[in-house]
Amino acid sequence: MFLIPKNVKFIKSIFTYSKVTTSKKQFCFLGRSNVGKSSLINFLFNHKKLAYTGKKPGKTIALNLFEFTLGNQNYQFVDTPGYGYHLNSKIEAKRFQNLMNDYLNKQANLQFFILLLDIRRTDSKNDKIMLDFLNKTQKPILIFFTKIDKLSKTKINLNLKLIKNFLNLDSKIEFVLTSSLKKINRQVCLNLIAKNLLKN
Ligand code: GDP
Repeated sequence: MFLIPKNVKFIKSIFTYSKVTTSKKQFCFLGRSNVGKSSLINFLFNHKKLAYTGKKPGKTIALNLFEFTLGNQNYQFVDTPGYGYHLNSKIEAKRFQNLMNDYLNKQANLQFFILLLDIRRTDSKNDKIMLDFLNKTQKPILIFFTKIDKLSKTKINLNLKLIKNFLNLDSKIEFVLTSSLKKINRQVCLNLIAKNLLKN
């Protein structure tokens, strides 16, 4: 399989999620702030400024909706707000939780999640909380590890084991090692996305 997404475009920012009537299949990206989510989205969709990199803490919490063509079908993806340290006020954390809950409960066309994990962080409690939260939805989860250029091969393998242990990852979970900086594994990620979109 060699599928390349085309015509990718930003649709809108969603601040309050109400029921959305779209028949287009959708997936969403999630990750801790600074995990490299914007860089990876730009890399995968071959776009310099699709998702903004280096966003400042304290920005408004919103879901950003994008659309693209794969084969002859249109699909959508959602870029969710980075979680973690910038959710430093209870009010923001609550807004994030409410927005995510509404989204997960109301978006029937959501097919799967792509959770981004920094390969260097072997004991991230926030990632564990997020993974537990996603597991409850019973939808498939793909994991894209980011920033692998920062570590040696030996250290990558060691960290993979530690992270899998810490997060109690299912051995069947599909994952990809990526680096948007060194442009590693773009097609592997795209194939996995396409496979999961075309599945049902
Ligand atoms: P986001 O907050 O998750 O959207 O993360 P960004 O995409 O803004 O990236 C956060 C920081 O990590 C920036 O300084 C990026 O330049 C850096 N970064 C992102 N991806 C990579 C990568 O693959 N390798 C390295 N070495 N740095 C990266």
